[in-house]
Amino acid sequence: LNRRLDGHGTTIFAEMSALAVRTGAINLGQGFPDTDGPEEVREAAVRALREGRGNQYPPGPGVPELRAAISDHQRRFHGLTFDPDTEVLVTAGATEAIAASLLALLEPGDEVIALEPFYDSYAACIDMAGARRVPLTLRAPHFRPDLDELRDAISPRTRLLLLNSPHNPTGTVLTRAELGEIAGLAVEHNLLVVTDEVYEHLVFDGEHVPLISLPGMRERTVSISSAGKTFSFTGWKVGWVTGSAPLVSAVRTAKQYLTYVSAGPFQYAVAEALALPDAYFTDFREDLRAKRDLLADGLTEAGFEVYRPQGTYFITTDVAPLGEKDGVAFCRALPERCGVVAVPNAVFHYDTPDAGRSQVRFAFCKRVEVLRDAVNRLRALA
Ligand code: PMP
Ligand code: GLN
Repeated sequence: LNRRLDGHGTTIFAEMSALAVRTGAINLGQGFPDTDGPEEVREAAVRALREGRGNQYPPGPGVPELRAAISDHQRRFHGLTFDPDTEVLVTAGATEAIAASLLALLEPGDEVIALEPFYDSYAACIDMAGARRVPLTLRAPHFRPDLDELRDAISPRTRLLLLNSPHNPTGTVLTRAELGEIAGLAVEHNLLVVTDEVYEHLVFDGEHVPLISLPGMRERTVSISSAGKTFSFTGWKVGWVTGSAPLVSAVRTAKQYLTYVSAGPFQYAVAEALALPDAYFTDFREDLRAKRDLLADGLTEAGFEVYRPQGTYFITTDVAPLGEKDGVAFCRALPERCGVVAVPNAVFHYDTPDAGRSQVRFAFCKRVEVLRDAVNRLRALA
């Protein structure tokens, strides 16, 4: 392994899902739904396969039907206009979009400010780009960004802000006011911004504001999203980038040499999914809101300190009230103790480990009976 990848051995998600399989525990660790997305979307993929659409290399930027559907989605939900030919790029999930964006936009030695705790691929991709990570830490109990801290973190070497809202794992949804201040700093210091918005349709309290919609941000922002979360097909790995033509073109250059293309028939199916009526998106959110409340209440009864998320399908908790200090040790022991798998937030902290030491994340994108069963098992801990 080259030194850039030191410390990036196996992702926590693979480790914890393997632990769940080995122990037969309920897996509330890795964030994936235990029910597939809409039947008609699955059928759309089957139809595309049968009709021979996408079985050979699709066009590099993505099939035209999907690029048009992404552009329509951005207009319908966010009032944003993107030219499907020059301002939209289809990627192998949000994961490739993040990698290609960072590889395309960073020079070795550049500094990237990111909200910590953060999704694990950010750290690996910043390292692979030879850049340097600078944390802006979200701290319990409110997990808001301290904008004075952000101002202090900006140096002459800062090139890019890497944001994620709704935020995995804390569930923070950045407010319009917070985003406005962040945008102001980006303009003042001439920074680029990459925003990971894969949970854009999972906001329970507040609203999702795409940073790119704020003044001065269009020419400096790359927005990322994915069908995996919104349509519950995480295995299809269809993601996308929207932004101004020069930035999207730069990301496309890097993307060409990572995967070139992917997911041919699934791209056609996702184009149909993006055109589902508004009710699909509302029902999806309301279903998960009820699950959030079920799990949050259950975890509270089981003795956890619960930080109820404004968005995403994750709940961050603190295990200190259960007499536990270390989330990693707690999660390693949890399957044996009560048959549940969770993820320690410590693994999302690279530079401020103390801030997440006793925090543990639970995913609630699971069937109601599974969540109930998990809550009953977790009560045994008290
Ligand atoms: N960003 C965040 C914040 C995530 O939680 C995830 C998890 N799936 C991803 C990106 C990756 O998305 P995809 O599966 O589309 O690659
Ligand atoms: N995003 C999901 C999570 O945070 C997992 C994705 C993955 O396994 N890479 O749990």
